[in-house]
Amino acid sequence: MNNELLAVRSVSKAFGGVQANQEISLTIPSGKIIGLIGPNGSGKTTLFNSIVGYHPVDQGSVRFQGKEITKMLVPQIARLGLLRTFQQTRIFSGLSCIGNMQISAPVVRSGLKSLFTKFPIDDMEDIEDILAFVGLHSKRHLLAGQLSFGQQKLLEFAMALIAEPKLLLLDEPTAGINPTLINGLIDRLRVANQELGITLFIIEHNMRVIMNIADHIYCLAHGQLLAEGPPDKIQNNQTVIDAYLGAN
Ligand code: ADP
Ligand code: MG
Repeated sequence: MNNELLAVRSVSKAFGGVQANQEISLTIPSGKIIGLIGPNGSGKTTLFNSIVGYHPVDQGSVRFQGKEITKMLVPQIARLGLLRTFQQTRIFSGLSCIGNMQISAPVVRSGLKSLFTKFPIDDMEDIEDILAFVGLHSKRHLLAGQLSFGQQKLLEFAMALIAEPKLLLLDEPTAGINPTLINGLIDRLRVANQELGITLFIIEHNMRVIMNIADHIYCLAHGQLLAEGPPDKIQNNQTVIDAYLGAN
């Protein structure tokens, strides 16, 4: 595929007897929003973990910007500009929003040319700008533990943005958050993609959201790639519909 940012080739991962991912191949083109759907337990989170180096894969390869990253560790991969967020947020509830951002920034910041070039490059100002970008500026001094779950997810999104990712993997960003925040988050994801140039790969259970936002969707079932295509094709794909119905 032209414009290939990430290439997953024949990746397999088992946990004991459970084949969580089986020979999965997919491509993420630069500049797009790509969806990953599939019933619970179909291997979506495992695939994200394999891509970002959270655990070694049993077989297969992962290439990012043409570079082999299969055996690299999470911080190395993050420094190349490939990051993920978690299904359950990973923030420090006893620290303020700014405090969480301050911890996140040096860990993942890499001296890449700032995507926020129109902002001053000073870290503190970047932090405030990014918190404003996700709509949390007025909450910046609150403890993260005082935020609603949806706001915590926005904070986690902000913590990823300060690392200036080229590719951001989001694991169920809208799960557990209220409809108003969902719309706000979708809007921010779009702007991050279109204006900041961040390619997004999103695991999402909310069909309305993913059909609305994604350029292309991959569907997993039982650890294998079941289908792929543009949203309208996936929505009407009988195999995909059966996989979801079969899971409920
Ligand atoms: P999804 O994100 O699509 O719900 P997961 O990737 O979390 O699915 O899980 C896929 C399968 O792998 C499940 O059967 C799950 O129980 C298993 N699994 C995932 N992570 C682990 C782990 N760390 N140890 C053992 N089994 C795991
Ligand atoms: Mg999952």
